[in-house]
Amino acid sequence: MANAIDEKVEPILQEVIARNPGEVEFHQAVREVLESLGPVLVKYPQFAHHKIIERICEPERQIIFRVPWQDDRGEVQINRGFRVEFNSALGPYKGGLRFHPSVYLGIIKFLGFEQIFKNALTGMPIGGGKGGSDFDPKGKTDGEIMRFCQSFMTELYRHLGEYTDVPAGDIGVGGREIGFMFGQYKRITNRYESGVLTGKGLDWGGSLVRTEATGYGLVFFVQEMLKSRGDELAGKTCVVSGSGNVAIYAIEKVNELGGKVVACSDSGGVVVDEQGIDLELLKQIKEVERRRISDYAKVHKHAHYRAKGNIWEVPCQVALPCATQNELNGKDAATLLKNGCIAVGEGANMPTTPEGVRTFLAANVAYGPGKAANAGGVATSALEMQQNASRDAWSFDYTEQKLAAIMKDIHRNCYETAEEFGMPGNYVIGANVAGFIKVAKAMVALGLV
Ligand code: NAP
Repeated sequence: MANAIDEKVEPILQEVIARNPGEVEFHQAVREVLESLGPVLVKYPQFAHHKIIERICEPERQIIFRVPWQDDRGEVQINRGFRVEFNSALGPYKGGLRFHPSVYLGIIKFLGFEQIFKNALTGMPIGGGKGGSDFDPKGKTDGEIMRFCQSFMTELYRHLGEYTDVPAGDIGVGGREIGFMFGQYKRITNRYESGVLTGKGLDWGGSLVRTEATGYGLVFFVQEMLKSRGDELAGKTCVVSGSGNVAIYAIEKVNELGGKVVACSDSGGVVVDEQGIDLELLKQIKEVERRRISDYAKVHKHAHYRAKGNIWEVPCQVALPCATQNELNGKDAATLLKNGCIAVGEGANMPTTPEGVRTFLAANVAYGPGKAANAGGVATSALEMQQNASRDAWSFDYTEQKLAAIMKDIHRNCYETAEEFGMPGNYVIGANVAGFIKVAKAMVALGLV
């Protein structure tokens, strides 16, 4: 059952659903934000007058294109590319590129929509966008990845620019892919425009801490939530889904702060290591050799691998979903609560289903929605843009301190906004309302554009 939605906002949601048929993830993301906005319209009636909600739900521009490329056998392959430039009221469109076979317009739009509010929460001058392709990088050679990335950028480059649209990585897009795309952009435009992509390598314009930022930022946010309840991460048992960029660096920071991660996963299954996940081995398997998580238990015989297992059945006090959307449902949430979970931080975007979110909120666990909790990645992308603009390179410690301060600010902003709107401790309301108000004020100021 869905939550009640304000009577002035409900018709807007129905219109969004009718105008974007079949895009269920987009509908879910819009509903979740719109459910929070009734009281905002009471406080700011001008937002209704300017039709800000209607406008914010309609992307400024949507680009869909063919991506032809040749595989190693010489066979022609065709994929579909997307870039949704959702909102530029606060700055150039900013948001990652996802390469995964599940990608279609509805996924890119849900991610782009969430990105608007997330980016606003960072306090940095960045608008919201997202892109990607239904290309599956798994099992492809470096040569195939390069030819795909070059073809993808051969169309996308005309829509990008450091003042226009600045993509980054997401699922299936890491440093290797950003490198191939930046190389092609440079070749076509004849411009070494560092600020056009973030997540670059450290030798050619990247920022220290960007690789770690989403996972580290997530754990900083969870630590803040726990602190606000007089608690801390040290000594807590944690479970982290996924074993990609966000998951690996979330595990690293949990370890640094004295917690213990006993399970992680990939789309094939779950590995449980009661002694604590061996991070060096995990990095070797996932970052260097690009193998499956099942190989972890082949090296560490005391660990258990559960093919197609459900990670949320592993008892923990802190759960960090860091894989993909809708990976944690209502039943999983109930299982986590039964096993003593007190805090949930979303490293992934929209990993918890609406029923799961309701279960967590009803139980009053510290629940940090992705919009707020995983904003450290894009915030550090904005720090990378700052360094590129001033042709500077900051130290690891300085950049990490900036990230930590940003996550603290986001937490405080969400916490105080939730209190102001009569829902103390509800970070969903806090994040949606604080992010929305910032973008809405800018949209009013910029006129009807
Ligand atoms: P990644 O490095 O590609 O890792 C993704 C991980 O999630 C992999 O372990 C993958 O397993 C698993 N996964 C993906 N799809 C899955 C599915 N359908 N079922 C089960 N497992 C699945 O990607 P990432 O950058 O860490 O991103 C993870 C999440 O964080 C995404 O929701 C992304 O939007 C969000 N996020 C990322 C950033 C960032 O800076 N990278 C910032 C904010 C939010 P397989 O290898 O088996 O597919």
